Amino acid sequence: MSDTTIAVSPDVRRTISDKYRPVYADDLPTLEKTLRGSISGTSDVVTAYERSLAEWFDAKEAVAVSSGGAALNVALYAVGIEAGNDVLLTPSCPLCTIYPIIAAGANPIFVDTRTHGFGADPESVKRALTPRTKAIIDIPMWGYPTEVDELYALTQSLGIKLILDLAHSHGTTLHGRPLSHFGDISCFSTHERKPLATGEGGFILTGDAALAQRSRDYSRFGNLNGKDFGLNYKLAALPAAIGHSRLASLSEQIAKRRENARYLLSKLDSAKVREKRIIDGGEPNYYFLNLELEFADNRAFIDYLDEAGIPSDIKRYGCKALYEFPVLAKYRRACPNAENLLASMTTIPVHPDITAAELDYMAAHINAYRGV
Ligand SMILES: *Cc1c(COP(=O)(O)O)cnc(C)c1O
Repeated sequence: MSDTTIAVSPDVRRTISDKYRPVYADDLPTLEKTLRGSISGTSDVVTAYERSLAEWFDAKEAVAVSSGGAALNVALYAVGIEAGNDVLLTPSCPLCTIYPIIAAGANPIFVDTRTHGFGADPESVKRALTPRTKAIIDIPMWGYPTEVDELYALTQSLGIKLILDLAHSHGTTLHGRPLSHFGDISCFSTHERKPLATGEGGFILTGDAALAQRSRDYSRFGNLNGKDFGLNYKLAALPAAIGHSRLASLSEQIAKRRENARYLLSKLDSAKVREKRIIDGGEPNYYFLNLELEFADNRAFIDYLDEAGIPSDIKRYGCKALYEFPVLAKYRRACPNAENLLASMTTIPVHPDITAAELDYMAAHINAYRGV
């Protein structure tokens, strides 16, 4: 260890938090002000939040909804998914992404990822196509960009829709543009654990005015006009107000995440641990730093870090290909790349409240691992 490093004894146990809950000085004044007006989902406060989201993400249209799951439900409806349609997705995502497909009465069809990352593999997509295929959901995990540009060109040539689940990826870019630039419609979550947090909440971004209108109408009971079907997925004014005011801190927070990731990576000197490959032209938001592992027993390494108080999403959520979960076993289609990716990685928290001493502590423990 270089002598500029803060001395870390692996014997001093810390508990690293993977929860980022900053205190925002503006929250209370914002809530007080909001409470003086309408607090429903049709309040002007929500419209103002939507405008600020569209601006921040450089998108034409934003529609605020009550959760990331709601965003997926609404997006599936907006692109025209009906009962019996096939919707493709990779099995390396959370359960949250697949349930809305099933709820829509559609068939979730698993396609494999690329070997080096969580983007859908074009060859696997082509093999899965049937006349029933109407859309694919691509899910960049932990804020690492996927090849959404190539996938968008492919889906356009095939005449199917590209839905992006960007619940982890606020601020992730490809060729200098937000990932949402590359899909037909993008879904975000603002659940407490996500990079922009409103407790519960979500939003949709799209460059297509018709998709935005269908999303807006559907999430407002078809505007109760009795002609258009819909459900209530509106975001209430209080979380919208919080989201609007917190959005002002998001760029700075992502910059700090990137700085923390760079710092930790600069301290690593393990032959069997390296950062997950970042695709050409891409820049992660570092929702979590992803490390690729080459140990004979990668789970033992994750357990070792966990015992040292360093948490992993892989362990927390028991990440595995979705068809390994009992409720999804009937959708099994072997996806070896996705299985291998999940089995050979871990996540490291680098959120803005992680201190330099904590980054040193995590790097020291990674470097000190004696397993093979
Ligand atoms: C969190 C998450 C969701 C669901 O978002 P909620 O706001 O919790 O409904 C969907 N997809 C992914 C990838 C997520 O991480």
